[in-house]
Amino acid sequence: MRSSAEALSDADPHTVPTRYWHQCADGRVQCDVCPRACKLHEGQRGLCFVRGRVGDRVVLTTYGRSSGFCVDPVEKKPLAHFLPGTPVLSFGTAGCNLACRFCQNWDISKSREIDTLSASASPEALAETAVRLGCRSVAFTYNDPVIFMEYAMDVADACRDRGVRAVAVSAGYVNAEPRREFFGHLDAANIDLKAFSDAFYQKITFAQLPAVLETLEYLRSTDVWFEVTTLLIPGHNDGDAEIAAECAWFAEHLGPDVPLHFSAFHPDFKMRDVPPTPPETLRRARRIALEHGLRFVYTGNVHDPDGGTTICPGCSAPVVVRDWYRIEEYRLTDRGACARCGYQLPGVYDGPAGTWGARRLPVLLGSR
Ligand code: SF4
Repeated sequence: MRSSAEALSDADPHTVPTRYWHQCADGRVQCDVCPRACKLHEGQRGLCFVRGRVGDRVVLTTYGRSSGFCVDPVEKKPLAHFLPGTPVLSFGTAGCNLACRFCQNWDISKSREIDTLSASASPEALAETAVRLGCRSVAFTYNDPVIFMEYAMDVADACRDRGVRAVAVSAGYVNAEPRREFFGHLDAANIDLKAFSDAFYQKITFAQLPAVLETLEYLRSTDVWFEVTTLLIPGHNDGDAEIAAECAWFAEHLGPDVPLHFSAFHPDFKMRDVPPTPPETLRRARRIALEHGLRFVYTGNVHDPDGGTTICPGCSAPVVVRDWYRIEEYRLTDRGACARCGYQLPGVYDGPAGTWGARRLPVLLGSR
């Protein structure tokens, strides 16, 4: 647990009550959002930094606050079967409930400074901005939205009211009850499956694998469209046996139609001594996944024509050809059926492919 230079206070306009916590017999209050189960004394923050104890309850301290807004291609989340080619208004807050040594967004997720959160926006303002900028969806990304779920759910609702969908990029490290409530407000998710070994999870992320697998199985039972990403880190989670075990579990528990992305690591945060992932490692992982019967396996953060292409399971034609985040060729109908053989691809398709391309557009919303 952490104490903070910035004292917690109910009077802060960005501090709101939360639901998932209970009193412990020893006087502490336990947050029940994620398996960390932070037990808090008065004034203490949880490991995620954004939730903490004020009085006898747990509060969220970053409602309406953000580390910044940006319009990205939806392919960057990554989502390959969700409104392809469209722009998504993306934002995050500060803090995270995992502590990955390889974090690729550590300046945000590891921030202990509320000053990182220099932007602010009400759910309505955010939804209006998404509409104004022609975004088909908003994404909670850069850090894990389960830790600011109260804000994320209100944003998702305000977006839905305006025909804009909501996407979560999450590690899926969340308890059953908040999981149900949180994903009940969302249209799509990309879940980071960081490895397929509990030892890796415990040592490198300070979390546990089974809770993440539960989230994946839970999502399989819902209408939320979801895809999965594994960042392959040389020497840590890129062995053939581990990848094969992941793919076997994936095929058995999620089925062949959930897209799986293998993406490339770059040295960062506390793992600067590990080299970047060689493209061949991603191609090898993709081969293993295809051998296990998965139909939609992609490689990320590299130029890889095969790993960026969706093949129609009906007629084996390439139906979406991508280069990194850019769509080069698109042969699906407005509803996502193969234009050649009519096979319906799994995913969310609503109209022609967008033309956003690979652009990244920072957006200035209200400062606090
Ligand atoms: S959400 Fe934050 S405060 Fe709550 S248990 Fe997880 S890390 Fe701790």
